Amino acid sequence: MAVVTLHARAKVNLGLWVGALRPDGYHDLVTVIAPLALADTVATRPARSGIVLRCDSAEVPCDERNLAWKAAEAFFAASGIKSGCHVAIRKRIPVGGGLGGGSADAAATLAGLNRLFGSPLSPARLRRIGARLGSDVPALLLGRPCAVRGRGERLRRISLPRLNLLLHCPGHGISTAWAYRALDRMRQSGPALTPPVLSPRLLSLYLRRNEPDRAAPFLANSFEPVAFRRFPALRRVRNLLLQSGADAACLSGSGSTVYGLVMKQDWKDPMAAMSRHGSPCLATSTIPA
Ligand code: ATP
Repeated sequence: MAVVTLHARAKVNLGLWVGALRPDGYHDLVTVIAPLALADTVATRPARSGIVLRCDSAEVPCDERNLAWKAAEAFFAASGIKSGCHVAIRKRIPVGGGLGGGSADAAATLAGLNRLFGSPLSPARLRRIGARLGSDVPALLLGRPCAVRGRGERLRRISLPRLNLLLHCPGHGISTAWAYRALDRMRQSGPALTPPVLSPRLLSLYLRRNEPDRAAPFLANSFEPVAFRRFPALRRVRNLLLQSGADAACLSGSGSTVYGLVMKQDWKDPMAAMSRHGSPCLATSTIPA
């Protein structure tokens, strides 16, 4: 029987700028989303009817709450195909850490089912369906680094080299909805804490030229003040990464993962230093384009 097995790649946000709350309740943002070698695998195959989902992680629901399940439902609704499917997820992306694991599985399910059933939906249509499932899904469908603007719906491919990253995943999640609310409250009550607007073009240029010192100021995240206030250990991890030899360190998404970018030296020494400090990291790299 036909099976399509795809990598469902995690992502990091290489910088994340969040603008003020808009009248429509959303925030403008500017970020660079970089897909990672770190990935789940998602295997899809047809079933006579219904959706059957399996996952090897007990942390992830295997019912309609799973984003991959929602993606399968959306695929059949949009394509009009009267069929069902099996979805099997091998989970390798830490859950709830701002690495986009659910969105990655949703993107791989959409792409897998589309391939399995003869490509009834165009890539642009898949991205529009993906955007309704989660703001990172369109970028993860593209599978290459891109600059993201607006509410997350405006994507532009950008060129990036392979970047070595160390990820520290603290083992607890941070709710994105909470992070936006906390950021709005902090901005209402205190001084403007918005970092300078990220320039994806300059970030891409400096990273391609191997100029980490010039790229580092762009690797800031608007959520850091709220995430670091609520979880001070994350600020310590960011500082430890820098002391351990990372060229830049930053929160990914609304957290809780903090990553270090290692360009000037081999990643093994900073990785060993982080373990000695009691903050072990996982080594991965971005997918270049
Ligand atoms: P993002 O960065 O997109 O906000 P995240 O990386 O912080 O997401 P996920 O790993 O996607 O977080 O998981 C967040 C929540 O989504 C978890 O509580 C989990 O139960 C639920 N979830 C639903 N489907 C999945 C899935 N396929 N993989 C992981 N989590 C899922």
